[in-house]
Amino acid sequence: MPPKQIALEEWDRLYDQLKATGLSEPSYGGKISRHLTDGDLRLTKLRFDNSIAALNLWNFLLTEEERLANARAEGKKLVGTMKDLGTVPVLAYSLPDLVAFYPDGAWWIPCVMELSAGLLGIADSLGIDESFCPVRAMLGAFVTEAHFPLPDLLTCSVGATCDDFSAIAQRLNGLGNPILWWEIPHRRKPAENERAVVLPGGMTAPGIQVDFVESELERIKKALESLAGQPLSDDMLRDGIARANAIRQRLSELRSLVFKAPVCPLPALELLIAEMLALHYCSDRDASLQVISDLLIETRARVDQGEGFLDAEAARIFWVNPVADLRVMNLVEDCGARICGTEHLFTHALDEIPTDVPPMRALAQMALADPMVGTAADRADRICSDITEFGAEALVLSRIPGASHCALEGGAIADIVAARLDLPVIEIEVAPLNDAYWPSLGTGLRALVETIRQRRGK
Ligand code: SF4
Repeated sequence: MPPKQIALEEWDRLYDQLKATGLSEPSYGGKISRHLTDGDLRLTKLRFDNSIAALNLWNFLLTEEERLANARAEGKKLVGTMKDLGTVPVLAYSLPDLVAFYPDGAWWIPCVMELSAGLLGIADSLGIDESFCPVRAMLGAFVTEAHFPLPDLLTCSVGATCDDFSAIAQRLNGLGNPILWWEIPHRRKPAENERAVVLPGGMTAPGIQVDFVESELERIKKALESLAGQPLSDDMLRDGIARANAIRQRLSELRSLVFKAPVCPLPALELLIAEMLALHYCSDRDASLQVISDLLIETRARVDQGEGFLDAEAARIFWVNPVADLRVMNLVEDCGARICGTEHLFTHALDEIPTDVPPMRALAQMALADPMVGTAADRADRICSDITEFGAEALVLSRIPGASHCALEGGAIADIVAARLDLPVIEIEVAPLNDAYWPSLGTGLRALVETIRQRRGK
């Protein structure tokens, strides 16, 4: 089937045709449109990739609530892991019968449900207003208990954490939700003569900071063992790391294919969702690996056949920060651009976890590689190196409304990248719903595409 982006109703018709010819589906399969009955109204405004791999990706994403409810019904213990984006889930999934998820994922509910769930209003009523980032929706999700079951254990990383998350998690704690806090320090460069450790992604940190994070993760490990009712051996954790790395390896190959192929083989929206699976496997690690593997097979086949979206002249854009409104990923392509590189605040969840050191130490090294626990200059270094690797021609910094780090960090990153690589850079702000700002968002992106084309002619 030639690649195409299609609307929800077209997917319904295609689904019927596929079913009539014997489509075999995973347990979470079905029409994407059935999720409208859950209130996922934004689906009617999106365009979707027309592959079976993408169908499975969407259905997998949109059935996470059911998976969590089933896990609870089966007697599994649920671990709500907050803020660390990719670290504690590796520990939790290394133990049998623990299922980890990010309540932070409520970040996207205002978009996906087009504000119909009322979560932001609940956050407002609790004193967490729009001066905070959309993660405040998480508060409403805890109050209504309508989007995920209350976890048996709730962890949250603190220390080098954005002000938004610290304040919101403390408010959540004040509402009677016990939280096991663990600290991650602000990453600094090792001083001269100080023991230095190379982290995933190539940065370095002082050995003493890695020691400290390892000791903090030992506390989390003990709590998880107590919840699971059994110890977590090094061998079990090594196996958990190997499985996490299997997902990261496939994602790495997928990203590389998508960013480097002459013609873009996979739309930006589906790639964004695939990248998110690295964080906590959407509550099913094995299924997550399958979904990403199928997407990789589809993408590889398209690259081999030279098939894809737009054409080889599409403007190549590097995108920083996830968009609160998923529809903006469609807009990028409408404006004649393709995504050639991303930094969605969690590169540490995409880089492989070291396997040449003891497993708890490996996790500590990974946690310290979190782009959000270091400086904007560190983020800019990584962005510059990835722009060069993927051949992007411009940088878009997508500001998250209310996010404390976005106020200044975007400008700092923009200055460093523009000075070092001589690239056009724009900053845009993406709210959970942008329909009212569609023309101005589109104008900014089209102007960037035009600038890229003019620079090519120089
Ligand atoms: S402010 Fe940024 S880092 Fe903090 S929760 Fe919001 S999006 Fe995440």
